[in-house]
Amino acid sequence: MIKADRIWLDGKLVAFEDAKVHVLTHALHYGIGVFEGIRAYEQAGGGSAVFRLREHIQRLFDSARIMLMDLPFAPGDVERACVDVLKANGLKAGYIRPLAFFGTGSMGVGAPNPVQVLVAAWPWGAYLSEEGMAKGIRAKVSSIARLHIGGQMVRAKVSGQYVNSFLATREAALAGYDEAILLDADGYVAEGSGENVFIVKNGVLQTPPLSSPVLDGITRNAVLRLAADLGIPVKEEKFTRDTAYLADELFLTGTAAEVTPVRELDNRRIGKGEPGPVTKRISEAFFKAVGGEDPKHREWLTPY
Ligand code: PMP
Repeated sequence: MIKADRIWLDGKLVAFEDAKVHVLTHALHYGIGVFEGIRAYEQAGGGSAVFRLREHIQRLFDSARIMLMDLPFAPGDVERACVDVLKANGLKAGYIRPLAFFGTGSMGVGAPNPVQVLVAAWPWGAYLSEEGMAKGIRAKVSSIARLHIGGQMVRAKVSGQYVNSFLATREAALAGYDEAILLDADGYVAEGSGENVFIVKNGVLQTPPLSSPVLDGITRNAVLRLAADLGIPVKEEKFTRDTAYLADELFLTGTAAEVTPVRELDNRRIGKGEPGPVTKRISEAFFKAVGGEDPKHREWLTPY
Protein backbone atom coordinates (compact mmCIF):
# COMPACT_ATOMS: atom_id res chain seq x y z
CA MET A 1 0.00 0.00 0.00
CA ILE A 2 1.20 3.48 -0.83
CA LYS A 3 2.18 5.38 2.29
CA ALA A 4 3.53 8.88 2.61
CA ASP A 5 4.02 11.15 5.60
CA ARG A 6 2.51 14.22 3.98
CA ILE A 7 0.36 15.06 0.99
CA TRP A 8 -0.20 18.53 -0.47
CA LEU A 9 -3.94 19.18 -0.67
CA ASP A 10 -5.44 22.48 -1.84
CA GLY A 11 -2.39 24.51 -0.88
CA LYS A 12 -1.39 22.85 2.38
CA LEU A 13 0.82 19.95 3.38
CA VAL A 14 -1.40 17.66 5.45
CA ALA A 15 -0.83 14.33 7.19
CA PHE A 16 -1.49 11.23 5.03
CA GLU A 17 -4.56 10.35 7.15
CA ASP A 18 -6.03 13.84 6.68
CA ALA A 19 -5.74 13.93 2.87
CA LYS A 20 -9.41 13.08 2.32
CA VAL A 21 -12.24 14.00 -0.03
CA HIS A 22 -16.02 13.63 0.28
CA VAL A 23 -17.86 10.62 -1.22
CA LEU A 24 -19.91 13.02 -3.35
CA THR A 25 -16.80 14.38 -5.05
CA HIS A 26 -17.80 14.85 -8.71
CA ALA A 27 -14.56 13.28 -10.02
CA LEU A 28 -15.18 10.05 -8.10
CA HIS A 29 -18.42 9.59 -10.04
CA TYR A 30 -17.43 10.77 -13.53
CA GLY A 31 -13.63 10.65 -13.63
CA ILE A 32 -13.17 14.30 -14.52
CA GLY A 33 -9.71 14.91 -13.16
CA VAL A 34 -6.42 15.75 -14.85
CA PHE A 35 -3.18 14.36 -13.58
CA GLU A 36 0.52 13.88 -14.12
CA GLY A 37 3.18 11.33 -13.28
CA ILE A 38 6.63 12.76 -12.66
CA ARG A 39 9.85 11.22 -11.39
CA ALA A 40 12.65 12.58 -9.23
CA TYR A 41 16.11 11.01 -9.28
CA GLU A 42 19.22 11.06 -7.15
CA GLN A 43 21.97 12.93 -8.95
CA ALA A 44 25.47 11.67 -9.74
CA GLY A 45 27.01 14.80 -8.24
CA GLY A 46 24.94 14.51 -5.04
CA GLY A 47 21.48 15.83 -4.25
CA SER A 48 18.30 15.10 -6.14
CA ALA A 49 16.38 16.57 -9.05
CA VAL A 50 12.94 16.37 -10.63
CA PHE A 51 13.00 15.34 -14.31
CA ARG A 52 11.26 17.78 -16.68
CA LEU A 53 9.08 19.28 -13.95
CA ARG A 54 8.11 22.36 -15.97
CA GLU A 55 7.00 20.29 -18.98
CA HIS A 56 4.88 18.00 -16.79
CA ILE A 57 3.16 20.89 -15.05
CA GLN A 58 2.62 22.59 -18.40
CA ARG A 59 0.94 19.39 -19.64
CA LEU A 60 -1.21 19.32 -16.47
CA PHE A 61 -2.41 22.85 -17.21
CA ASP A 62 -2.90 21.96 -20.90
CA SER A 63 -5.02 18.96 -19.86
CA ALA A 64 -7.05 21.26 -17.57
CA ARG A 65 -7.54 23.77 -20.40
CA ILE A 66 -8.76 21.00 -22.70
CA MET A 67 -11.22 19.95 -19.96
CA LEU A 68 -12.47 23.52 -19.33
CA MET A 69 -11.15 23.27 -15.79
CA ASP A 70 -9.71 26.36 -14.10
CA LEU A 71 -7.09 25.50 -11.52
CA PRO A 72 -7.09 27.69 -8.42
CA PHE A 73 -3.26 27.70 -8.49
CA ALA A 74 -0.61 28.96 -10.89
CA PRO A 75 1.79 26.50 -12.56
CA GLY A 76 4.62 27.79 -10.36
CA ASP A 77 2.58 26.95 -7.22
CA VAL A 78 2.10 23.36 -8.37
CA GLU A 79 5.79 23.05 -9.32
CA ARG A 80 6.72 24.25 -5.83
CA ALA A 81 4.20 21.84 -4.31
CA CYS A 82 5.93 18.92 -6.09
CA VAL A 83 9.28 19.85 -4.59
CA ASP A 84 7.75 20.55 -1.16
CA VAL A 85 6.09 17.13 -1.12
CA LEU A 86 9.35 15.37 -1.97
CA LYS A 87 11.12 17.26 0.81
CA ALA A 88 8.33 16.79 3.35
CA ASN A 89 8.54 13.03 2.79
CA GLY A 90 12.34 12.88 2.82
CA LEU A 91 12.34 11.43 -0.71
CA LYS A 92 15.68 11.53 -2.53
CA ALA A 93 13.99 9.85 -5.49
CA GLY A 94 10.40 8.95 -6.19
CA TYR A 95 7.24 9.29 -8.21
CA ILE A 96 5.13 12.44 -7.96
CA ARG A 97 1.40 12.49 -8.68
CA PRO A 98 -0.35 15.85 -9.10
CA LEU A 99 -4.14 15.59 -9.63
CA ALA A 100 -6.73 18.34 -10.16
CA PHE A 101 -10.41 17.39 -10.08
CA PHE A 102 -13.93 18.71 -9.69
CA GLY A 103 -14.90 18.49 -6.03
CA THR A 104 -18.28 18.62 -4.31
CA GLY A 105 -21.23 20.88 -5.13
CA SER A 106 -23.63 19.68 -7.75
CA MET A 107 -23.88 16.18 -9.25
CA GLY A 108 -24.85 17.02 -12.83
CA VAL A 109 -22.29 15.56 -15.24
CA GLY A 110 -21.41 19.01 -16.55
CA ALA A 111 -21.32 20.72 -13.16
CA PRO A 112 -18.25 22.95 -12.95
CA ASN A 113 -17.77 22.35 -9.22
CA PRO A 114 -14.86 23.96 -7.34
CA VAL A 115 -11.56 22.39 -8.41
CA GLN A 116 -9.40 20.65 -5.83
CA VAL A 117 -5.70 19.97 -6.34
CA LEU A 118 -3.42 17.47 -4.66
CA VAL A 119 0.18 16.42 -5.02
CA ALA A 120 1.41 13.15 -3.53
CA ALA A 121 4.79 11.43 -3.83
CA TRP A 122 6.12 8.02 -2.92
CA PRO A 123 9.02 5.70 -3.78
CA TRP A 124 8.38 3.68 -6.95
CA GLY A 125 10.89 1.31 -8.52
CA ALA A 126 10.75 -0.21 -12.00
CA TYR A 127 7.10 0.00 -13.15
CA LEU A 128 7.30 -3.13 -15.30
CA SER A 129 9.68 -4.93 -12.87
CA GLU A 130 13.47 -4.97 -12.54
CA GLU A 131 13.57 -8.20 -14.49
CA GLY A 132 11.50 -6.65 -17.28
CA MET A 133 13.91 -3.73 -17.47
CA ALA A 134 16.91 -6.06 -17.65
CA LYS A 135 15.59 -8.80 -19.95
CA GLY A 136 12.65 -7.20 -21.72
CA ILE A 137 8.94 -7.75 -21.16
CA ARG A 138 6.30 -9.84 -22.97
CA ALA A 139 3.59 -7.66 -24.50
CA LYS A 140 0.26 -8.42 -26.14
CA VAL A 141 -1.66 -6.36 -28.66
CA SER A 142 -4.88 -5.47 -26.89
CA SER A 143 -8.44 -6.13 -28.03
CA ILE A 144 -9.13 -2.69 -26.57
CA ALA A 145 -8.53 0.11 -29.10
CA ARG A 146 -6.77 3.31 -28.08
CA LEU A 147 -8.98 6.39 -27.55
CA HIS A 148 -10.58 7.78 -30.69
CA ILE A 149 -10.03 11.43 -31.53
CA GLY A 150 -13.74 11.71 -32.40
CA GLY A 151 -14.78 11.27 -28.80
CA GLN A 152 -11.83 11.65 -26.53
CA MET A 153 -9.01 14.00 -25.75
CA VAL A 154 -5.88 12.13 -26.69
CA ARG A 155 -3.52 14.96 -25.71
CA ALA A 156 -4.90 15.18 -22.18
CA LYS A 157 -4.15 13.02 -19.17
CA VAL A 158 -7.73 12.73 -17.91
CA SER A 159 -8.52 10.30 -15.09
CA GLY A 160 -11.64 8.84 -16.71
CA GLN A 161 -9.81 8.08 -19.94
CA TYR A 162 -7.76 5.52 -18.03
CA VAL A 163 -10.72 3.13 -18.16
CA ASN A 164 -9.20 2.34 -21.56
CA SER A 165 -5.73 1.65 -20.08
CA PHE A 166 -7.23 -0.31 -17.19
CA LEU A 167 -9.13 -2.68 -19.48
CA ALA A 168 -6.06 -3.18 -21.66
CA THR A 169 -3.62 -3.87 -18.78
CA ARG A 170 -6.04 -6.20 -16.99
CA GLU A 171 -6.70 -8.13 -20.17
CA ALA A 172 -2.95 -8.49 -20.79
CA ALA A 173 -2.17 -9.48 -17.19
CA LEU A 174 -4.99 -12.05 -17.04
CA ALA A 175 -3.70 -13.58 -20.27
CA GLY A 176 -0.22 -13.86 -18.73
CA TYR A 177 1.52 -10.90 -20.39
CA ASP A 178 3.39 -8.01 -18.79
CA GLU A 179 1.86 -5.15 -20.76
CA ALA A 180 -0.67 -4.27 -23.45
CA ILE A 181 0.00 -2.45 -26.70
CA LEU A 182 -3.05 -0.65 -28.07
CA LEU A 183 -3.87 -0.09 -31.73
CA ASP A 184 -5.67 2.99 -32.98
CA ALA A 185 -9.13 2.73 -34.53
CA ASP A 186 -7.53 2.13 -37.97
CA GLY A 187 -5.42 -0.72 -36.66
CA TYR A 188 -2.05 1.04 -36.51
CA VAL A 189 0.10 0.65 -33.41
CA ALA A 190 -0.63 3.55 -31.05
CA GLU A 191 0.96 3.07 -27.62
CA GLY A 192 1.17 1.04 -24.42
CA SER A 193 -1.38 1.40 -21.62
CA GLY A 194 0.81 4.10 -20.08
CA GLU A 195 3.77 4.29 -22.43
CA ASN A 196 4.73 5.39 -25.92
CA VAL A 197 6.05 2.73 -28.32
CA PHE A 198 9.27 2.67 -30.35
CA ILE A 199 10.59 0.11 -32.83
CA VAL A 200 14.06 -0.18 -34.38
CA LYS A 201 14.53 -1.62 -37.89
CA ASN A 202 17.90 -1.61 -39.67
CA GLY A 203 19.24 0.98 -37.24
CA VAL A 204 16.32 3.41 -37.69
CA LEU A 205 14.21 4.34 -34.68
CA GLN A 206 10.49 4.71 -35.37
CA THR A 207 7.54 5.84 -33.27
CA PRO A 208 3.96 6.79 -34.21
CA PRO A 209 3.64 10.51 -35.02
CA LEU A 210 1.73 12.95 -32.84
CA SER A 211 -1.03 12.91 -35.47
CA SER A 212 -1.75 9.40 -34.13
CA PRO A 213 -3.97 9.24 -31.02
CA VAL A 214 -1.03 9.02 -28.63
CA LEU A 215 -0.12 11.02 -25.57
CA ASP A 216 2.64 13.53 -26.30
CA GLY A 217 4.93 11.69 -23.91
CA ILE A 218 7.62 13.68 -22.20
CA THR A 219 9.86 10.61 -22.15
CA ARG A 220 9.07 10.08 -25.86
CA ASN A 221 10.25 13.62 -26.50
CA ALA A 222 13.41 13.09 -24.41
CA VAL A 223 14.19 9.84 -26.28
CA LEU A 224 13.79 11.57 -29.67
CA ARG A 225 16.22 14.28 -28.55
CA LEU A 226 18.70 11.76 -27.11
CA ALA A 227 18.53 9.75 -30.35
CA ALA A 228 19.44 12.93 -32.25
CA ASP A 229 22.40 13.46 -29.88
CA LEU A 230 23.53 9.88 -30.54
CA GLY A 231 23.18 10.23 -34.31
CA ILE A 232 20.45 7.56 -34.47
CA PRO A 233 18.10 8.20 -37.42
CA VAL A 234 14.46 8.68 -36.40
CA LYS A 235 11.12 8.36 -38.22
CA GLU A 236 7.86 9.59 -36.71
CA GLU A 237 5.55 7.44 -38.85
CA LYS A 238 2.68 5.02 -38.27
CA PHE A 239 3.34 1.30 -38.44
CA THR A 240 1.28 -1.89 -38.35
CA ARG A 241 1.39 -4.62 -35.71
CA ASP A 242 3.15 -7.01 -38.12
CA THR A 243 5.80 -4.35 -38.74
CA ALA A 244 6.35 -4.46 -34.99
CA TYR A 245 6.61 -8.29 -35.10
CA LEU A 246 9.41 -7.93 -37.66
CA ALA A 247 11.24 -5.15 -35.81
CA ASP A 248 14.82 -5.74 -34.65
CA GLU A 249 13.99 -4.05 -31.35
CA LEU A 250 10.91 -2.77 -29.56
CA PHE A 251 10.71 -0.67 -26.41
CA LEU A 252 8.26 1.40 -24.38
CA THR A 253 8.87 4.81 -22.84
CA GLY A 254 7.10 6.62 -20.03
CA THR A 255 7.70 8.35 -16.76
CA ALA A 256 6.78 5.23 -14.80
CA ALA A 257 8.16 2.69 -17.30
CA GLU A 258 11.25 4.80 -18.17
CA VAL A 259 12.81 2.84 -21.08
CA THR A 260 11.46 -0.73 -20.96
CA PRO A 261 12.58 -3.22 -23.62
CA VAL A 262 9.96 -5.58 -25.10
CA ARG A 263 11.37 -9.03 -25.88
CA GLU A 264 8.20 -10.62 -27.22
CA LEU A 265 4.99 -9.33 -28.85
CA ASP A 266 2.00 -11.65 -29.33
CA ASN A 267 4.30 -14.65 -28.82
CA ARG A 268 6.65 -13.51 -31.61
CA ARG A 269 10.20 -13.02 -30.40
CA ILE A 270 11.44 -9.54 -31.20
CA GLY A 271 14.96 -9.56 -32.68
CA LYS A 272 17.10 -11.81 -30.52
CA GLY A 273 14.54 -11.82 -27.71
CA GLU A 274 16.61 -9.53 -25.50
CA PRO A 275 17.24 -5.78 -25.22
CA GLY A 276 18.95 -4.76 -28.47
CA PRO A 277 21.90 -2.41 -29.01
CA VAL A 278 19.89 0.71 -29.89
CA THR A 279 17.54 0.18 -26.93
CA LYS A 280 20.60 -0.14 -24.68
CA ARG A 281 22.19 3.05 -26.02
CA ILE A 282 18.94 4.99 -25.60
CA SER A 283 18.38 3.59 -22.12
CA GLU A 284 21.92 4.45 -21.02
CA ALA A 285 21.58 7.99 -22.38
CA PHE A 286 18.20 8.35 -20.65
CA PHE A 287 19.51 7.26 -17.24
CA LYS A 288 22.53 9.56 -17.64
CA ALA A 289 20.23 12.49 -18.39
CA VAL A 290 17.86 11.86 -15.47
CA GLY A 291 20.79 11.30 -13.13
CA GLY A 292 22.55 14.57 -13.99
CA GLU A 293 25.38 13.01 -16.00
CA ASP A 294 24.51 14.62 -19.33
CA PRO A 295 25.67 18.26 -19.39
CA LYS A 296 23.67 18.83 -22.60
CA HIS A 297 20.36 18.31 -20.81
CA ARG A 298 20.81 20.01 -17.45
CA GLU A 299 17.79 22.17 -18.25
CA TRP A 300 15.64 19.04 -17.87
CA LEU A 301 16.47 18.90 -14.16
CA THR A 302 15.03 20.84 -11.23
CA PRO A 303 17.39 20.28 -8.28
CA TYR A 304 16.02 20.18 -4.74
N1 PMP B 1 0.81 7.22 -22.97
C1 PMP B 1 -0.03 7.15 -21.91
C2 PMP B 1 -1.44 6.72 -22.15
C3 PMP B 1 0.43 7.48 -20.64
O1 PMP B 1 -0.39 7.42 -19.58
C4 PMP B 1 1.78 7.86 -20.45
C5 PMP B 1 2.29 8.19 -19.09
N2 PMP B 1 2.09 9.53 -18.76
C6 PMP B 1 2.62 7.92 -21.59
C7 PMP B 1 2.09 7.59 -22.83
C8 PMP B 1 4.05 8.35 -21.47
O2 PMP B 1 4.12 9.73 -21.18
P1 PMP B 1 5.30 10.35 -20.33
O3 PMP B 1 6.57 9.92 -20.98
O4 PMP B 1 5.07 11.80 -20.42
O5 PMP B 1 5.19 9.82 -18.95
